[in-house]
Amino acid sequence: MQTSFTEEQLKDAAIAHSEKILRKCVHCGFCTATCPTYLTLGDELDSPRGRIYLIKDMLENNRPADDRTVKHIDRCLSCLACMTTCPSGVHYMHLVDHARAYIQQTYKRPLIDRLYRWMLAQVLPYPGRFRLALSAARLGKPFAGVLKSLPGGKPMAAMLALAPSGLPKPDRQLKNSRHAPLGAGGRGRVVVMQGCAQRVLDPAINLATISLLTRLGYEVLTPPAEGCCGALVHHMGREHESHSAAKRNIDAWLDEAEKGGLDAIIITTSGCGTTVKDYGHMLRDDAAYGARAARVSALAKDITEFLTEAGLPQSTAGNGIRLAYHSACSMQHGQKITVQPKKLLADAGFEVADVPEGHLCCGSAGTYNILQPEIAARLKARKVANIERVKPQLIAAGNIGCITQIAGGTDIPILHTVELLNWAHGGTMPQALKSLKSGSAVPEAAE
Ligand code: SF4
Ligand code: SF4
Repeated sequence: MQTSFTEEQLKDAAIAHSEKILRKCVHCGFCTATCPTYLTLGDELDSPRGRIYLIKDMLENNRPADDRTVKHIDRCLSCLACMTTCPSGVHYMHLVDHARAYIQQTYKRPLIDRLYRWMLAQVLPYPGRFRLALSAARLGKPFAGVLKSLPGGKPMAAMLALAPSGLPKPDRQLKNSRHAPLGAGGRGRVVVMQGCAQRVLDPAINLATISLLTRLGYEVLTPPAEGCCGALVHHMGREHESHSAAKRNIDAWLDEAEKGGLDAIIITTSGCGTTVKDYGHMLRDDAAYGARAARVSALAKDITEFLTEAGLPQSTAGNGIRLAYHSACSMQHGQKITVQPKKLLADAGFEVADVPEGHLCCGSAGTYNILQPEIAARLKARKVANIERVKPQLIAAGNIGCITQIAGGTDIPILHTVELLNWAHGGTMPQALKSLKSGSAVPEAAE
């Protein structure tokens, strides 16, 4: 694609980077075929190619974002299916991230939208505040229907609908910042990132991860100084906040690396994994943090990537339980991890079924299911119908956002991949497995 940025504009590193991305696009439109918003809404401006044109026009003309551009960029899920499909290697993720930051700087959103975004940025990344908000939301749940019909009430209704009716208690074990290896140990020293929303919604995921890794002989660290990865605010264009979150984590993790070495930073929420792996890019121009950020990105690994490299012992505990594996967009498109989770599950004895249209987003996408509830609901219904088509006993996924979203649309139990692997290799049986109807197929102790 030809561009016409001036020399002056190209002195801005962010513009220069986006210009390079824009020039790679050859307008072929292959990406439209796999874009969930284009498939749902049928508007070219809700396709990757349409959005690329809008971004190019906005940046080239150096003009503040307008209502039309904001509407179509806001509707983008950042699912990155377009990046998987694009034959020209257009880095849409970095382009849309730049557009979002530009919108945040140049566009004044309606008051109600600003309030919602401010509230989400103030609550979701902080586990204590998030826990309180979820407790309050339980009281508000009966009013979700009324709120939905009020002007500007849909995001609040979506939040109330998403809030679980009960929350697991924080697990005391997770307060420890060091978990010693069991047995002989000596396999290595790793951080398991605790995340923000996940540790509140489902602490069993981090517990299963720590339990499995320590049994495999790893020393596991959970540095108390780390926080949210910054993805939630990053996708709202709040660059300053996302960079601060990244720096805080970089300091916390590299502090551990300096104390005793570090083999990996293990992440169990693929949305966070995509962001941490991008820290090197996010902070590339930061003199103090550029190199440190790149080091952290190189250490970051999804738990299934790490377990594949580490190797797991033989197990047949899955005993043919039929799983639908839902691959989160951030897993398959953001991190290109497609084979490893399914292979680990199959190797543990589960029968793993692919979900039809597995490349399409479930509609969760960080705060998308709150800020764009109607499109998110349509995508959820499509995802759940596709999952149910393969008639699974269980669903496995590697991202808490997807787990929460899909659980809201089906009665089929959904678990994190690592909870199943932990059980299959001698760990605690997840509650959902205990209540599986084909109880006889599921031994109480896997090994
Ligand atoms: S990131 Fe997803 S929703 Fe956004 S343009 Fe690409 S395919 Fe479409
Ligand atoms: S597939 Fe790639 S090159 Fe083709 S229009 Fe989409 S982004 Fe541009």
